[in-house]
Amino acid sequence: MVNLLSNIVVLIALSAGGALAKLKDRINYPNGLSTPFGPGLSENTESSAQWLNPWGAGWIPEGCKDRFISKGYNASDAQVFNIKYSDCGRAWTFCRHKDAQLSIEDMADSFGRMSVHMRSLVRHPIALPKDSGCSAQAYTNIGDIVMYGNCKALTVWLHETGHQLDARLKPSERFSGTEPWLKALGNDTCVPDSYANTNTIEDFAQVVVVAQHNTLLGYIPKEAYPGCMENRQGLLEDTFGEDYLEYIGRCSNRPKDSKTVSTETTKRERMKLMKRVKAQEENDPDVVGPCSFS
Ligand SMILES: [Zn+2]
Repeated sequence: MVNLLSNIVVLIALSAGGALAKLKDRINYPNGLSTPFGPGLSENTESSAQWLNPWGAGWIPEGCKDRFISKGYNASDAQVFNIKYSDCGRAWTFCRHKDAQLSIEDMADSFGRMSVHMRSLVRHPIALPKDSGCSAQAYTNIGDIVMYGNCKALTVWLHETGHQLDARLKPSERFSGTEPWLKALGNDTCVPDSYANTNTIEDFAQVVVVAQHNTLLGYIPKEAYPGCMENRQGLLEDTFGEDYLEYIGRCSNRPKDSKTVSTETTKRERMKLMKRVKAQEENDPDVVGPCSFS
């Protein structure tokens, strides 16, 4: 609950630019994006995972330890894996809580279905438990994405990686805050789904899902208001389509892995870490979410 409250503070802080009111009255996909967009994305992608190599007990990437401890879990309950995909020479290090609803195979598969350049925006994919449903967070200053609960849907992975696309390439100015994007938003008449109405950042991440579907399949599922978000979708595809959304992309510009640390945590260390992470989450617009998905 404390975490939830602190994240609400983050969301409100993010909305202070005038986006507290919803962006648009028209909702193009009233039931969310996973039902209309999930099947096309799943049927036309496959994971290029080659091998999966578990770490020995006792060690964890610092980025994972920060998330585990700050969310009230023990770092020693993390399962850490290196996962190598055929389209990138360097493996990714994943962290999964032993009770997370996502299996390591689920994580490897969903992440691996994204284009390699989208994956290259991410440092550590992390899975933590949640009683029901799925929510997720993106730490766009470091590249980590965190999945809580049953987040197997590719639309969710694309959404969170979409936050990285928005913010990581030019940390001083997220794309969703630039003039061309806001102008396109002004010219459009709808949001993709009701969640996109949260603010311009969430809207951008949902348009990434739409643009990915169109780039991959050449169409988008039937719209309630045809063409109502074509300016944002077009701008996103023109700007990032070839380089990020096409599946012939590159494995490049990846964030460095966080350093390897011990899973052991003294009380003093835990307190210090909690303080550091709390300050980060409350004040840092680079922490996006929790994004909630039905
Ligand atoms: Zn989000």
